[in-house]
Amino acid sequence: MPEEKTKLEPCGCCSKLVEVAEDVNREDVYCTDCMGDPKAKSTKDRLGWAGRQFFEARFPIVRNALSKEAHKQKWDKMTYEKKVAFIGKMIEQGAMI
Ligand SMILES: [Zn+2]
Repeated sequence: MPEEKTKLEPCGCCSKLVEVAEDVNREDVYCTDCMGDPKAKSTKDRLGWAGRQFFEARFPIVRNALSKEAHKQKWDKMTYEKKVAFIGKMIEQGAMI
């Protein structure tokens, strides 16, 4: 098996060095801490830092948009995963950016 050639590139977000395949020419390289690891078990790790900022910034926006107190309480009881899925769906449907 030929050895895969890799090079180290600094993460565009935190500057941590990331190992990338040498033949891959991407403009921006991000580490899994920042942009997430699709293979991670937890939602937070999958999202990475940038993903978490993206969704967490929208948590209070959604909460404020809920008109009924009962709905706000329901939102507060939702798990992190459910909130992320909910916001993901809103974005998909164009109700949120
Ligand atoms: Zn990073």
